[in-house]
Amino acid sequence: MIPYGRQDISSADVEAVVDVLRSDFLTQGPMVPRFEETLARTVDAPEAVAFSSATAALHIACLALGLGPSDRLWTVPNTFVASANCGLYCGATVDFVDINAKTRNMDVEALASKLEAAERDGTLPKVVAPVDFAGTSADLAAIRRLADRHGFRILEDASHAVGGYYQNRPIGSCEFADVTVFSFHPVKIVTTGEGGAATTRSAEIAHRMRLLRNHGISRDPADMTAVPEGAWYYEQVMLGFNYRMTDIQAALGVRQFDRLAEFVARRQTIAARYHEGLAGLPVIRQFVPEGTLSALHLYVIELDQTVRRTRAEVFAAMRASGIGVNVHYIPVHLQPWYRALGFSRGDFPAAEKYYDFALTLPIHPNLSVDQQDYVMERLSYALEA
Ligand SMILES: *Cc1c(COP(=O)(O)O)cnc(C)c1O
Repeated sequence: MIPYGRQDISSADVEAVVDVLRSDFLTQGPMVPRFEETLARTVDAPEAVAFSSATAALHIACLALGLGPSDRLWTVPNTFVASANCGLYCGATVDFVDINAKTRNMDVEALASKLEAAERDGTLPKVVAPVDFAGTSADLAAIRRLADRHGFRILEDASHAVGGYYQNRPIGSCEFADVTVFSFHPVKIVTTGEGGAATTRSAEIAHRMRLLRNHGISRDPADMTAVPEGAWYYEQVMLGFNYRMTDIQAALGVRQFDRLAEFVARRQTIAARYHEGLAGLPVIRQFVPEGTLSALHLYVIELDQTVRRTRAEVFAAMRASGIGVNVHYIPVHLQPWYRALGFSRGDFPAAEKYYDFALTLPIHPNLSVDQQDYVMERLSYALEA
């Protein structure tokens, strides 16, 4: 099966992990800070905090932004469930903003009108979490203007997007977002096995995220209520978690970042070949706005309305040909957990319509030209048969 996404592990990556296994520290050693410095330098952010996953990073970012039980978090339906669940973890109410049919990212006009209504009702969100779908930045500058008008914080879920650029700035530089979160799961752009991180320009938010990642425990006298009783002394000053990344993961991550630009360039080449090769087929190709460099975590097409086969039929035909096509995403509000909270079909029509016709094609650094040609040939056949 040709997978839709796959990690690329070099012998240097393997050696870096083995070196940690032979060292004194498997966790809480020197590699996590080195990984955080590498990420901060790469995305040009003053603060980077590593976590055990992006899901953990989203949870802690929400807490660090002050999200609590009387608050609201808004995200998009076209995402992985974690972008919404982080709000529920904090006891907040979660709601959604529909996507733009063309960009498949948060629709800024839908956000603006939902905010107007919320302003009138006194139900404004504390946190809005746009997602950089497929590696392409959401329209963060426009969302920032709305944040300044309505007073919410921006939590950018850039799980797909490390290595991408928006308005000539690296995604994660937090030019517009309060916090940006990345995932290093093996299907994403670079990997640490499991792993995630958050970047921010706020030293205070970074400090809170570091405390919350490690049980709420501090060894810094500046955080303490009492004078340290000795060198062993620490205080738990808030209720935190164990969401730490290990040194084993961080060592892999440091080496993977050496090849980030190479991985993104390879994905660009594959996407350009799809764009050209699929031009004559009855599909909507992936769109990347002018002035944006997508990290291209995914390459998603939508079947044209003229195609007589259903998406399920095309999906099955491709899988039968050994091609690991996938579907991103089932709208989160249609998951049983969210339906039980009151959401139903019809609530976010653009995300629902997109979902009905979407098909994710393989894209990853080791997809060969021959494999890609095979994918396009089988797709052409599946659409017509
Ligand atoms: C993968 C993903 C996550 C979760 O990442 P983990 O590191 O697996 O916790 C969150 N949001 C989006 C949009 C994702 O694609």
